[in-house]
Amino acid sequence: MNLLEISDLHVEYTSRKGVSGTEQKIHALNGVSFDIQKGEILSIAGESGCGKSTLAKAIMKLIESSDGEIDFDGKNIAQIKKLEDIQKFYQKVQIIFQNPYSSLNPKMKIGQILREPLEINTRLKRAEINQIVAEKLSQVGLDTSVLDLYPHEFSGGQRQRIAIARALVMNPELIIADEPVSALDVSIQAQIINLLKTLKDNYNLTFLFISHDLSVIKYISDRIAVMYLGEIVEIGRTNEIFTAAKHPYTKALLSAVPQFTQKEDNETITLSGELPSPDKLPNGCKFHTRCPYAMDKCKESEPYYSEFSPTHNCRCFLYEEK
Ligand code: SF4
Repeated sequence: MNLLEISDLHVEYTSRKGVSGTEQKIHALNGVSFDIQKGEILSIAGESGCGKSTLAKAIMKLIESSDGEIDFDGKNIAQIKKLEDIQKFYQKVQIIFQNPYSSLNPKMKIGQILREPLEINTRLKRAEINQIVAEKLSQVGLDTSVLDLYPHEFSGGQRQRIAIARALVMNPELIIADEPVSALDVSIQAQIINLLKTLKDNYNLTFLFISHDLSVIKYISDRIAVMYLGEIVEIGRTNEIFTAAKHPYTKALLSAVPQFTQKEDNETITLSGELPSPDKLPNGCKFHTRCPYAMDKCKESEPYYSEFSPTHNCRCFLYEEK
């Protein structure tokens, strides 16, 4: 059963450039479609600036989409407008941010931070709230001795555990983890990734996991969607992406990490050039300015998705039937 369904999602916004304040239209998401089944971890991979965090914000209703639809648990989230429905939505969908140093209010004790979502969104009594907080702290490997301390009294890894506990207190169905370990020391990253995986296995949680780190993505994901300039260019199960990637961009990302060089064809692609600015999207296939296989038609037309298995497809003219 799909918990989240995203169909042809577009996000555009206007920003001002330079001292002249010239308006520019940013095309952050350009027709993103995918779904996440209950109990699975789908990762979004791609370079910085490809639209991963915009996608997270759109699902969290922090920014409006210009077109397309996001359905959570069968309901279009754009239709969720009443305060009580918005509160219910935020009980079910939680986010863990990249930086545990800025995501926890430094003036609040850990007890306040963890109790606050329950006090705002539920009518539970104080004793019930305290019980839930203790239970969630235990699930992330901490105990109630932390409740009277402030965030600055903890290491980065402990703060991220607290941020995860804060997400868990609402008993969410979907957790969006936006680069949850990239601000942490390498030695701590594995502990937090293992914790997220354990939580998923033990409590049947569903994750949208956003990262630029392919090692982390390979370890934690059931499926992977590769994003380039606000489009999903390839999606598949983890083994399909890591052993039989099709899209030149996916192959280039894998080629940048020696242990992930494709086993099937041993092909390596070196990514050249910069990611084009989202206010000046290339025509045709958006990857054509950096693709070693670009043909004339790649500059003029957008490719459709080609299917390699029921779970694996990619968007590239190299695979379209002649
Ligand atoms: Fe490269 Fe063309 Fe495929 Fe785009 S459609 S990835 S430019 S070969």
